[in-house]
Amino acid sequence: MLKNKVFLITGGARGIGLSIYKYAINAGAMVVICSRNIDEVNKAILEVDPTGKNSLGLKVDVSIIMEVKGLVAKTLKKFGKIDVLVNNAGIYGPIGLLETNNIDEWQQTVNINLMGTVNCCQAVLPIMKKNGLGKIINLAGAGVGGSKPLARFTAYFASKMAVVGFTEALAKEVEGEDIQINCISPGGVNTYFTQWLLNNGEEKAGSDMYNQALKQKENGGDSPELAAKMAMFLASTKSNHITGKLISAKWDLIESMSDKNILKNSLYNLRRIDNNFFYEK
Ligand code: NAD
Repeated sequence: MLKNKVFLITGGARGIGLSIYKYAINAGAMVVICSRNIDEVNKAILEVDPTGKNSLGLKVDVSIIMEVKGLVAKTLKKFGKIDVLVNNAGIYGPIGLLETNNIDEWQQTVNINLMGTVNCCQAVLPIMKKNGLGKIINLAGAGVGGSKPLARFTAYFASKMAVVGFTEALAKEVEGEDIQINCISPGGVNTYFTQWLLNNGEEKAGSDMYNQALKQKENGGDSPELAAKMAMFLASTKSNHITGKLISAKWDLIESMSDKNILKNSLYNLRRIDNNFFYEK
């Protein structure tokens, strides 16, 4: 079903993005991955697609519009189209009380997590509209949609909330085109993110988050394959009825999402936990 589809996966060189890259290649897709570090990009291609026939790796910072434009142009030159955009590149940003955060690092978190996603969507949407179809998958996380705001991770939490809000609004904007835009929350996956949190220490991260990360590191955490499998589902035509949703790779079952009524309730929206739309009151 995904054979010969062209994927563009930002930050696809390690962690969750790497797992999505592997699944896409195994499904017969052609994949462009990028990150700010060309060595990790080349290493990933060597691991996943050693001949490099179906892959292209580029050094790109998604927070820089000109670099994103170059990424999209080079993808079109190599593969001629973009069917699936996965906005996976992201950082935790500064950890600790707001007044101790470096404000440039705070801003950079928004620039990468939110604006990186916005930049890629803006560059890719005209291509998808011209092709008459497309899938955009944004990585959420930070427990947004849950009942626990992440104190001491304000840049990360705010930027991921914004990514989900952006996804909901953009999905509405392209309603009528055959383009679906959704978010995945991948669960707690042991990646560089976990190490970054632990490196920051308990005093900055707070004991709840620190101990949770420590426990997650010890017990192995959630598999990145949960997010990769959900991404394959959301990239396929099987999910054409799903758009503007926040989907948990850990808690939501792919089988239960074939129900076409899924768009009618708020279960899969940002306000899913209290199930209470403000405009329905
Ligand atoms: P990771 O650090 O292993 O991978 C992130 C990738 O993004 C890396 O390849 C990195 O080089 C790249 N990247 C970072 N900034 C970039 C930039 N400006 N331009 C281009 N590439 C950039 O982390 P991960 O855990 O695999 O995270 C992937 C996504 O999943 C992130 O958006 C993260 O917020 C989200 N997420 C992760 C978890 C988790 O438990 N690991 C939980 C929720 C959400």
